[in-house]
Amino acid sequence: MSHLSLEVSLQKEMQGAASPIIVTSEGNQAGREVEERSQCIIKGLQRLPECNFSTAEVSDRYIDTILQQIHHQEYLEFLAHWNRALVGEELLFEYPYVDQGIEADTPLFEGVYDLSREGARTAIAAAQQIAKGASLAYALCRPPGHHAGPAWLGGYCFLNNAVAAVVTLQESGIDPVGLIDIDFHFGNGSAALLASRPDVWFGSIHSSTILSYPYKEVHPASDGQVFIPFSHSPSSEEYLTAVEQLIKKALSFGCAAMVVSVGYDIIINDPHGGWHLPPSIFEKIGQIFAQSSMPLCLVQEGGYLLTALDECAYQFGLGLLGYDQK
Ligand SMILES: [Zn+2]
Repeated sequence: MSHLSLEVSLQKEMQGAASPIIVTSEGNQAGREVEERSQCIIKGLQRLPECNFSTAEVSDRYIDTILQQIHHQEYLEFLAHWNRALVGEELLFEYPYVDQGIEADTPLFEGVYDLSREGARTAIAAAQQIAKGASLAYALCRPPGHHAGPAWLGGYCFLNNAVAAVVTLQESGIDPVGLIDIDFHFGNGSAALLASRPDVWFGSIHSSTILSYPYKEVHPASDGQVFIPFSHSPSSEEYLTAVEQLIKKALSFGCAAMVVSVGYDIIINDPHGGWHLPPSIFEKIGQIFAQSSMPLCLVQEGGYLLTALDECAYQFGLGLLGYDQK
């Protein structure tokens, strides 16, 4: 019988400060980045008695300490400005804070900085659980963060939650830390942020970056970055082999803990995806991660098919908690 538990960090209530971010994909009105996403994931995790839920409690001061190690000050000030400059509306304009070769695509909205900081707080709180000795922690943060770079937003990401978790683990003395990104989309923000941190191993499985966001060629910055792109919809077997490859490389790098950027947009019918994997693949992904025996800090990225998110999270939890062996 397993004594594993999954510590789930919940994002603080925003008291109406934040408006939803409208995400439309080629005219498709589905796929909005809304609070309901987190509610669906919570519902799935609640089916697992090993999940302990707690609201993220991290001081504002500590969040700033972490964010200042990740993002440029003038970029943080830009977000802070638009946080209060918009009332009940979203605004998209040609701001300069974009990744090279990418156009501004992500609207700003009232409370954008407040909401993004709550996302970062949630990720930092989950990393602190790992630092305190938990084997499994899961940050249910939003908006996602892996497209946010040193001084840019994009792909509905503003602050990089996963890298905030990485830095928090490092601050607690865990070394080296790895980051595996299994979102459908390539985490261009995470890759750029970790390019200047060669002590952090980074692996990613994603849809071709030519066919999907960020719609440009990408290259690993060093031997400590491993990218596995698919230009077709991978079979379950192909996908799981890729996960195994990444874990193997992370272990040979010597990673003492792993942050996982979790995207449920790899499954069939996700409004922002394009692959045909079933939600049940997440049980197998969870099993492979669990077999690595590394402490895992899961950080929520994408996943927009509201009717499937609870099942994805439940299946992932089953695999992570070792239900196949019970
Ligand atoms: Zn995604």
